[in-house]
Formats: sequence, structure tokens, C-alpha cells
Amino acid sequence: MPENAFLNSDTDKRLAIIVPYRDRLEHLKQLIPHLINYFERDKIDRNISVTIHIVEQLGDQEFNRGKLCNCGVSLSQSDADYFCFHDVDYLPIWSDYSYCETPTHLIWHGLPIMDHYNKFFGAVTMFNKADFEKTNGFSNKYWGWGYEDEELRERCGTVGLSIERREGTYQSLPHENVGYNSDGKHNPIATRNLNLCKKRLKNLKELMSKDGLNSLDYRLDGTSKIKIDSKIYENVFLHKVEI
Ligand code: UDP
Ligand code: MN
Repeated sequence: MPENAFLNSDTDKRLAIIVPYRDRLEHLKQLIPHLINYFERDKIDRNISVTIHIVEQLGDQEFNRGKLCNCGVSLSQSDADYFCFHDVDYLPIWSDYSYCETPTHLIWHGLPIMDHYNKFFGAVTMFNKADFEKTNGFSNKYWGWGYEDEELRERCGTVGLSIERREGTYQSLPHENVGYNSDGKHNPIATRNLNLCKKRLKNLKELMSKDGLNSLDYRLDGTSKIKIDSKIYENVFLHKVEI
């Protein structure tokens, strides 16, 4: 056995964590210091080279999580080998961000919802660069809450990529539920996105070839280092974009 064979041979792979973001400052203030401390702890993913990219949507159009994630890839890809799409409201307690050979979902414990753990592909996911290019990224067409993550999972299936599930434990930060009314039913925007997704899945192979990374259109307003409670974080970038 070669010397040091027990070391993870993939630690030379560079990870870009991409956080789609707008107007959730209280969560961002918790996530950033938490992630920095998380990666300093001695565990399987400690030695990964990580940059964090907060991609902030400017303006008051409906939020578009998928498109912001595509922007994050476009902005970080020259310095990254794989990408983690990370909601601002999940703090890793014990997870595994090491390189993934196939699209990977990282959360198992700590999802506040739900009955379909085995299908859910939102919140915190990872892709290596080649796989994300194969899916042509996220769709850019989901405005407002919901279903961009479902389409991404179906895009993976359409190009023959299977999904790995790691058993990460996360703490979720509470917020108002954007996709549902108080009676637990989808609101009109979520219903619209559900219907959009259902319709697109009938013809996904063709639609996904025309909509995603290859059709991404945005304007970068500026990139800066992020400052939280007067501390400047190296390797954490705030990209403001018009989409
Ligand atoms: N998000 C945001 N501002 C918004 C809506 C969404 O920053 O106004 C980002 C944020 O990273 C959030 C993610 O998109 O964690 C998913 O949205 P949300 O938390 O509303 O979805 P849910 O928790 O219902 O899956
Ligand atoms: Mn959330």
C-alpha cells in the first residue's frame, strides 16, 4: 500500500459553495461564520480548498434560485472543480463535502419537512463540473418559489446520471414558508411552478438542451469580499447580479 494511501486522494479538487441569496441577512450572518468554522474542524472534509460565492439577486422581480445558481457556476468555474448549491438557511453539523463522482444530495437529518426524503433534491446538493455541464445546469425559467430542484433531478435522470445520497446532519434556520399557505396548500406561484414543471417534463430532453447554462444571460453588478459584524472573510465573495 503506498504511503498515505488512507488520505483522501481528491483533496486537490477545489470546491465552490454557491449560495443563492436575497434579503435573508440574519441567515447569512449565521451561515458564513458557521461554514468557515465547520471547514476548520478536523474531519473527512477538512482539507478541501473551498471558496464561498453568495450570488445576490438585485431588483424586485420574483426570486429565481436556479438561475442564480447557474450564475454562481459561471462566476466561479475558473477556480473550481465541483460545486455545492447551498441554501442560506442550512447549517452543517456533520456532513461530507468531499468530491462527488455523481450528483449528490448532502442533507439527510434535519430537514424540517417531509415525506419524500428519497426524492428530494433541494437545499444542499453537489455536482462535479462535467456532470453539471451534462445537465446544462438548472433551468432559468422558474421564477418564485419551487420546482427548479425537481427539474434538476429529472435533468440528471434524462442524461443518465444517478444521484448519491449522503447522510449529512444539518440545523435548519426557521423562516416563513414561502411556497405554502397557512392551510398547507401551495400558493398560486408554487402552483404555477408545479404546473410548469409537469409540462416541461413531458418534453424535457429537448427543452433542457435549450435552457440552462448555455442560455444564461445576466449582468454582474460587482463582486466584493463580504464583511459580517466588521470582520472581512477571505475566500467569501458577494456577487451582485441582475438576472
Ligand atoms: N432565497 C433567498 N431569498 C428569498 C428566497 C430564497 O435568499 O427571498 C434563497 C435562500 O438561500 C433560501 C433558498 O433560496 O434558503 C430557498 O428558498 P426558501 O428557503 O424560501 O425555500 P424552502 O425553505 O421553502 O425550500
Ligand atoms: Mn428555506
